[in-house]
Amino acid sequence: DGSAALRTVKTTCAYCGVGCGVAGAVGEGRSVLITGDAAHPANLGRLCSKGSALGATVGLEGRLLEPTINGKSANWHEATALVARRFKETIARHGPDSVAFYVSGQLLTEDYYVANKLMKGFIGSGNIDTNSRLCMASAVAAHKQAFGADLVPGCYEDLELADLVVFSGHNAAWTHPVLFRRMEQARARGQKHVVIDPRRTDTAEGADLHLAIAPQSDVRLWNGLLADLVRRGAIDRDYIASHVNGFEQVTAALVESDQSLSAVAADCGVAIEDLRTFYDLFAANARTVSLFSMGANQSAQGVAKGLAIINAHLATGRIGKPGACPFSITGQPNAMGGRETGGMANTLAGHMDFSPEDRDRVARFWGAPDTTRAPGLKAVEMFEAVRDGRIKAIWVMATNPAVSLPASGAVRDALAACPFVVVSDCVETDTTAFAHVKLPALAWGEKDGTVTNSERRISRQRALFPPPGQARADWKIMADVATAMGFDGFGWASNAAVFREWARLTAYENRDRFLSLAGLSALTPSAYGELLPVQWPIGVDGEGTPRLFVDGRFQTPDRRARMVPVLPKGPAELTSAAFPMSLNTGRIRDQWHTMTRTGLAPDLCRHAPEPYVEIHPEDAEALGLKDGALARVSTARAEAVAVAKVSDRQRRGSLFMPMHWTDAFAPSGRANALVEPRVDPTSGQPEFKHTPARVRPY
Ligand code: SF4
Repeated sequence: DGSAALRTVKTTCAYCGVGCGVAGAVGEGRSVLITGDAAHPANLGRLCSKGSALGATVGLEGRLLEPTINGKSANWHEATALVARRFKETIARHGPDSVAFYVSGQLLTEDYYVANKLMKGFIGSGNIDTNSRLCMASAVAAHKQAFGADLVPGCYEDLELADLVVFSGHNAAWTHPVLFRRMEQARARGQKHVVIDPRRTDTAEGADLHLAIAPQSDVRLWNGLLADLVRRGAIDRDYIASHVNGFEQVTAALVESDQSLSAVAADCGVAIEDLRTFYDLFAANARTVSLFSMGANQSAQGVAKGLAIINAHLATGRIGKPGACPFSITGQPNAMGGRETGGMANTLAGHMDFSPEDRDRVARFWGAPDTTRAPGLKAVEMFEAVRDGRIKAIWVMATNPAVSLPASGAVRDALAACPFVVVSDCVETDTTAFAHVKLPALAWGEKDGTVTNSERRISRQRALFPPPGQARADWKIMADVATAMGFDGFGWASNAAVFREWARLTAYENRDRFLSLAGLSALTPSAYGELLPVQWPIGVDGEGTPRLFVDGRFQTPDRRARMVPVLPKGPAELTSAAFPMSLNTGRIRDQWHTMTRTGLAPDLCRHAPEPYVEIHPEDAEALGLKDGALARVSTARAEAVAVAKVSDRQRRGSLFMPMHWTDAFAPSGRANALVEPRVDPTSGQPEFKHTPARVRPY
């Protein structure tokens, strides 16, 4: 009951991008009672099933507790020296682009900063990418094109102030449950919910309107909305005249195809009355927030989807105002921190790009050579380069690409063939099986640093327990390797010192405080320890910024937002006689990524104890598949076995499989092994939401 608590530590949940505050009442040993932090603005004390079960996941089973080299125990000195020597030798023989880091939204901002500084600043390659590539890279690219920088305009308060919330490919009830509860409360005062999703998810179940669109028809739907708003005269011409470029080009592109309600409804596979209801609701509600998440982003035209949503908001001036914005919600606890620090292959730290000016600014700040002249390889390309031998040494940190990446079987082949694989993680995973060197990292409950949630709010993740065994902080592991490689500038004494340097970089020669953390660049260690949640960007006065673009000025050179014409393209690969169905892989309510943590909590495993494939009753009957029977799911890439779940929540012709199961839990049910690695050409984000597939009884 917590009465035996020795101390209570305020920290942040390990899982999704809501970034809920957690109070951990720490008892003897590693026992902890978890409650929601009532003072944290993201959740005001609420937690979902995953956050509530954090205490069940902090045991030491399966943990990496000592460095190993080729499976044998080693000490930190030996392991650090070997990693440094092999990376140096590889770079000397084959150049800096022959090495790579594949990192994770589970890393803290301090970890991300050090990884990026080492790779882009000193090794001299852009080859650092993150598993956030699988999550919201398309939204990043859309933000950059529309706003001039990867900026999330709104805040969680907007979700309560809105009169209409549109969920575009976003099952918030399962993936961001605490935010969804906040919006459910807003419904009590009349807020309307529209869900755009091929599946009737829990979010769609209770919505005012569910548009079960055909897979990958989102751009058609949103373009049709814009055309309808123009027809109605429901656009904000004053806002466009003052703040937006590109409106004419976008509307000119729209008239090239039939934008009538009947044509759009037919292409999207929805009833014309439902389409009209959506368009009526959008036209009538100035306070509209359009949430978009994996269903929009995980697509070969994910960037176009984001831009089509943003276009509708810019044309109606619904941005930078209370209760009105397009809002990309991130999947991971620190996807945003990674975006800010340059954890993606195509950005530098502090939201800078690869322009000569930005490169020079970062290099001078670091005292590093200006050698990283171009973006590096994005996640899918990176593992292709490992497979074909261009990358000869890779360091994977806090992620499990042997399960999570598309065509994960090919990723395994790549890792097996790679001359030098380093994995730093807190637990053994499917990926550690390929490591020549395993480095024990801290887990949630031991890590100490900062994370940034979906509304740009920086919060402290604090340690509840001392490091077990020889486990170390990721930033420290990398800093020691960097020093062993002979690089200066990695000798920080603490995580607070890393954070201070990062905050100073954001403000360094920054002509526009818009993107900086200026007010945090001189934090003392104790102020860092006590840092309260605050929304980036942060002025010199320490004040955060809840809402961006309130003055209608954007981050483009002329300070005007850009509407960008986008054309619907449909799926990257069409279904065929051999593979007639559309397979969608994704998350379920109570599991997280590849179950390395949530799989430890018995309560969380009850919700869906085994891999399943969801199928519409008419499809199931036609195929002779019974509910609860084993089914064989095949794609051109691979085959999996899962339990058939017959449900009219599924669209006819579509299948859904959760992506969580691993070798440790159910190797035959690895869903992302089935997915072809087709990506959006701009964002590099894979199309997890549509792979041609077939299913039959096992
Ligand atoms: Fe954790 Fe997300 Fe649940 Fe909040 S909503 S408790 S951040 S998993």
